[in-house]
Amino acid sequence: MRKKALLFISAAVLIAAVVLVVFLTTKRGDGARRGVIKPDGSSLTLIIDAGHGGEDGGAVSPSGLVESVVNLDVARRIELLAAFFGVTTVMTREREDIDYSDSAETTRERKTEDQRARLKIINNTPNAVFLSIHQNIFADESPFGAEALYAPTEGSRELALGLQELFVSSLDPENRRSAALIQDTIYLMNNISCPAVLVECAFLSNPKEEALLRTDEYKLKLATVITAGYLQNRDELSGIYGLEVSA
Ligand SMILES: [Zn+2]
Repeated sequence: MRKKALLFISAAVLIAAVVLVVFLTTKRGDGARRGVIKPDGSSLTLIIDAGHGGEDGGAVSPSGLVESVVNLDVARRIELLAAFFGVTTVMTREREDIDYSDSAETTRERKTEDQRARLKIINNTPNAVFLSIHQNIFADESPFGAEALYAPTEGSRELALGLQELFVSSLDPENRRSAALIQDTIYLMNNISCPAVLVECAFLSNPKEEALLRTDEYKLKLATVITAGYLQNRDELSGIYGLEVSA
């Protein structure tokens, strides 16, 4: 039964991915809003967080690929795929630039301000599920593989386990990583009350994964797998909020 449901979701996501490719290759205006459904409190809202941005580029690969740019690219693809499935979404940022207030004078203050602004978005969103998109980096080039890190909130671990299973089955069977509790130093993930998973999609320090991250195909694949992982867990997540389970 579970296998059948999984197959159905995989097929549906694949169709959506094809539609998405067509959609992405058709020109669209910069910053134009796409068919995103606004949260009204009657269903789950998927908050997609493109990690870093503005003055904080995150990790940078040896050849100069910047994490914040990759994160936003993957996040946008998830947003489009999710919208295709009728999922209500909110993005914590939609551009590389971030507007800081004049009172935030240092880089550290600006980063704190940005994190607090994101926290406010999450806390003001009813029935939220939070997915934060990041890329990993390590001192040597051997580590690889996507990893789902969960917040210490209800539903997070289950969502991460589902995602991690898909990372192995659909992205890389060699991936030996397991879903794990996020470090308690990560601000957003430890200050929210909704189900939340931070995905480390790939290692910028691993030449093979870094090369994959430069391709549209792989970023689409990542987004497809992450969206499928969310859809598979949607009923359980709805249950946390006492919402009607989707048809
Ligand atoms: Zn990061």
